[in-house]
Formats: sequence, structure tokens, C-alpha cells
Amino acid sequence: MKIIDKKDIRALSKEELQFFFRQHGFPSFKGDQVYQWLWQKGFHDFDLMTNLSLNHRNLLKKYFEIKHINIDLQQRSLDGTIKNAVKLFDNFIIESVLIPTSKRTTACVSSQVGCSLDCTFCATASLKRMRNLNPDEIYDQVVAMDKQSRLYHNRPLSNIVFMGMGEPLMNYNNVMVAIEKIIDSEGLAMSPKRIILSTSGVPKMIRKMADDKVRFGLAVSLHSARQEIRETIMPFAKKFKLDDLIEALEYWYAFTKKKITFEYVVWNEINDLKEDIDALVRLCKRIPSKVNIIQYNPIDNASFKEAPQSVIDSYIEALSRSKIKVTYRRSRGVDIDAACGQLANKLDKKEKTF
Ligand code: SAH
Repeated sequence: MKIIDKKDIRALSKEELQFFFRQHGFPSFKGDQVYQWLWQKGFHDFDLMTNLSLNHRNLLKKYFEIKHINIDLQQRSLDGTIKNAVKLFDNFIIESVLIPTSKRTTACVSSQVGCSLDCTFCATASLKRMRNLNPDEIYDQVVAMDKQSRLYHNRPLSNIVFMGMGEPLMNYNNVMVAIEKIIDSEGLAMSPKRIILSTSGVPKMIRKMADDKVRFGLAVSLHSARQEIRETIMPFAKKFKLDDLIEALEYWYAFTKKKITFEYVVWNEINDLKEDIDALVRLCKRIPSKVNIIQYNPIDNASFKEAPQSVIDSYIEALSRSKIKVTYRRSRGVDIDAACGQLANKLDKKEKTF
């Protein structure tokens, strides 16, 4: 008997699914139906696709499998934040976080297993980059959190931020395919305005996003507007220089007319001087932007300490004086290590050491 090496059906586009059915003597629209089961309804079992005949389902089972994620562990914070440990088909674990507020529920999504960047203040950086996530692994995180949002908060997911593990612009194609499916009317039909991609700043890929006419928002993890400081806390910035980043952001704005959000943590003895504040104000005057000051979430093995409120207030005052919008974001889910920069599979690591 000939053994068929089964393909992951979710790697196929809608057109390829239509072609598959035509090839086997069936009408194309069967491909559309399967596409809807997979992407709009998020089903993971051919037998539950009830508008397909047994014949069709068996045909699909012969050639394909449906690789999908499994939520391995769900932790709920006292503030309602949910952190999911997500098991992938090859047993790697990633994390994704659902953050509720009174008005919205936001899904914080991972794009890679681990991260190849080396930000010294981030827990994810301690995990090597093992591999990129596939489009469906990114998409599935969103579907799973949409279900949790409906279950625990009686409303669908309202926002998505690519601020989980990994650098989304180092997995460009897969992230873009996932976002297309998230906004597709035959997928989750979410508005691109409710999606923000956060990057440490890869100039070439920021330009590419502008060229590709993406419609979602862009956030940049800046943390310092001074090259000599930035490259000590984010060593990859030696290669991706601030000047190049700034030019790429100007390019982005010229083409998209979308303001950039700068994410910024204020630390003692790192970026707490007047010249740090002045450099940030100068940069924001040059690029249409707003600043989101993030509370520092302490991680193991790091000698960073958040600056006192008075320094943060000086930042806020200086930016406001120059009419630059600034917000200070309090962390969510700290008690379960679900806040920014804390995603590092702690439980998984603990399990492995026993
Ligand atoms: N690689 C992407 C997305 C992941 S990080 C990026 O760099 O934007 C998501 C955000 O959390 C980034 O702004 C990052 O700089 C910030 N962050 C990382 N570690 C942190 C920590 N310990 N405390 C607070 N924010 C942190």
C-alpha cells in the first residue's frame, strides 16, 4: 500500500483548496467550504465539517492533517489577565496573554519560539530563538483568546498586539499571512485598526511594511533615543542603528500617514538624565508619534531598576509641553509573569529541572 505523506491542510490557500477538489472531480466551492471551517469557524477535526459528505471528509483525511495548537496550561491573574502556555505540534511551548480592561480585551500574541534579539532587560531574550511560528500557530492563538474573551468577559476580542515572544519583523511573511487571515471577512473579520505590531526596530522590514501598504498600527520599542545608550541595552541596535531606524520610520509615516507609538521604560542610571528626555522629545518632534511609557517588570538576573516617579513625571511633562501625546501604562498580570518582557516559559523550565 502506498503511504501518503500527509500535508498540513492549513498551509494551503483558498485557491489551492479549490484546485484540490477540482483535481479530484468535485466542484471548487467545496474548497471554499473547507476554508471556512478551518479559518472562520476554527475547526480542527474533518469529521465535524458537517456540510461535507463522508466521501469528501475521507478524501481530506487521506491527504491532509490539521496541525493545531493546544493550550497546555492557563493561569489567571488576580486582575483578570490570562496567560496561556501554548503547546505546538512539535512540543515547543510559547505563551500568549489575554488582557481585559473595562472597555476592551486585548490579545498579546507571540510570533516566534524564543527570540533572536538580545534585549538585556527582557526575559524572553534568555530563550534562544528555536523557530518561527507558522501563520496558523499565530492565528490559533488569536482564536483561542477570542474564545476565552467570550467565555470570561462575554464579548469578542477587541484588540491584538504583537508583543508576546519573538520579533515579528524577523518572521515577516508568516506574521503577514496570519494578519491577512485575522482581517479577512472569511477569517476573523477584525479591523486592522485594532491590530498593533510591536518591533524592536528592523529598518528594512519597516520600509517593506510601508511598501506592502499594511493597514495596522506600528509600535517601536525605543527605550532610548540615544544610539550609545540604546545599543548597550539592546545590543542588536549596533547593527540596526537609530539613524536608519528613524529614516525608516519617516518613510513609514510618509506612506501610511499613521503615527508611531514609541514604547519606553525609564530606568535608573540608564535613561534618567535630562539629555535622555531631550533626545526623546527631539525624536518625537521629528516623527509623528506618541509615547507609551511602560512600567518596568522586574525579571530574574537583571540589574535594571525602574526610575522613581519623579523622573517619569519629568518625561511626561517635557513631552506634554511639546504637545506630544504620552501615556504611562501600568503592568497587568505581573503575579503570573504575564507582563511585558516576562514571557519565558518559567513553569516549563521548572518542570524540566526536576
Ligand atoms: N520584539 C518585539 C515584541 C516583544 S516585546 C518588540 O521588541 O517590540 C514587547 C514589549 O515589552 C517591548 O516594548 C519590550 O521592549 C517590552 N519589554 C521587554 N522586557 C520588558 C520588561 N522587563 N519590562 C517592561 N517591558 C519590557
